[in-house]
Amino acid sequence: MTAKELKEQLFLSQKNGRLEASEETLAAADAFCEDYKWFLDNAKTEREAVKTSIALAKKAGFSEFCPDKKYSCGDKMYINNRGKAAAFIVMGKRPVIEGVRVTAAHIDSPRLDLKPNPLYEAEELALFKTHYYGGIKKYQWTTVPLALHGVVVKGDGSVVEVNIGEDEGDPCFVVTDLLPHLAAEQSKRTLNEGIKGEELNVLIGSHPFRDDSESELVKLNILKILNEKYGMVEKDFLSAELECVPAYKARDIGFDRSLIGAYGHDDRVCAYPALRAAMDIKEPEHTVIVVLADKEETGSEGNTGLNSAFLKYIFMDLANMQGVDGYKVMRASKCLSADVNAAYDPTYPDVMEKRNASFVNRGAVITKYTGARGKSSTNDASAEFVGFVRNLLDKEGIAWQIGELGKVDAGGGGTVAMYIANLGLDVVDLGVPVLSMHAPFETVAKFDVYMTYLTVLAFSK
Ligand code: MN
Ligand code: MN
Repeated sequence: MTAKELKEQLFLSQKNGRLEASEETLAAADAFCEDYKWFLDNAKTEREAVKTSIALAKKAGFSEFCPDKKYSCGDKMYINNRGKAAAFIVMGKRPVIEGVRVTAAHIDSPRLDLKPNPLYEAEELALFKTHYYGGIKKYQWTTVPLALHGVVVKGDGSVVEVNIGEDEGDPCFVVTDLLPHLAAEQSKRTLNEGIKGEELNVLIGSHPFRDDSESELVKLNILKILNEKYGMVEKDFLSAELECVPAYKARDIGFDRSLIGAYGHDDRVCAYPALRAAMDIKEPEHTVIVVLADKEETGSEGNTGLNSAFLKYIFMDLANMQGVDGYKVMRASKCLSADVNAAYDPTYPDVMEKRNASFVNRGAVITKYTGARGKSSTNDASAEFVGFVRNLLDKEGIAWQIGELGKVDAGGGGTVAMYIANLGLDVVDLGVPVLSMHAPFETVAKFDVYMTYLTVLAFSK
């Protein structure tokens, strides 16, 4: 045997998946990603993601889950958790006591939330005060066109939906920044402090209400517009959730169109493939649950996050329906925590350890553990469960890779995996490598998106 042959037999080889993929696979990936781009543009916030996902699921035959009803194999149900999180269930051939296949992704993304009392006027400009949501590099959010999405609950209890800045004809909004000519002092700040939290103020107008010598006429005119359009008064901001997100749409990147740039890939890039897998499955062996969670970017706390009883009670309902104990169902179940990892960026190699980094175009990335400081705050998946997923992927011919989130002690992060592990399920992180994660414009490879879809499909069927 030659060294070359022996190497092929013994060495781990991690290759660009596009090299070995068939033309049909690459064409299918492109087609899948056209649908994904549409989803990105129509699901920029957790609320819109829930709305859009349920609308798609209904078309695919899902109906609202009723815990008192009996369901049988092939039945498809959805659960809407307060309009901000959702679950999709496909009943399997086997009873739930033999285990359920869960895929969990999140549909919230880093952004600028309006403060409860956001509107003010300064030197005849009207602005919104914001409090950023999730981990952002604040300087990236200045001089980017922003749209405003969310809901306002008015004094009479009625709810107004807001979506301004997405249509071509809409105005948009912006956080201004200093010109370089006068940024001598600002430039001495560290990158982290380059733009401070209280400097993320969104410019929303400059035209004064033309009448008399009253003060705050620009603010008054803004409120007049909001009152005419939404029937709201300033006090209504106190009971609102309004989010500033980048106003542009998803686009292909590269001469070869092999990549997609967009706001909010993390984690729609796993949420959409998971949803599509649930929609495309007919009669799975095990019952399938796809959860699309809120609040992941702020630690999964709150009743729409996965550190709540949301998923646990879905198990309870399914178990009750079949007359078994919920905890036994959870203990027998398996979960893919579908979330992104950091793709190796050749411009910033110092934070990565090449042998254990994930690369664009190498397929879905299995992340055995996340966390920081010596594997703290993470679900470290067992060898047995990683082995199970690995064998499944190899059997199905799906391109995959293993990845850690950067070098040891370079930083760290977390996902929903540990909260699901706490329920007693076997769980591992798996998803798409992302360049510029958490930036207003993130980049992924179409091939990896499609491999993640095939993974969830194989895991669920
Ligand atoms: Mn994520
Ligand atoms: Mn994230």
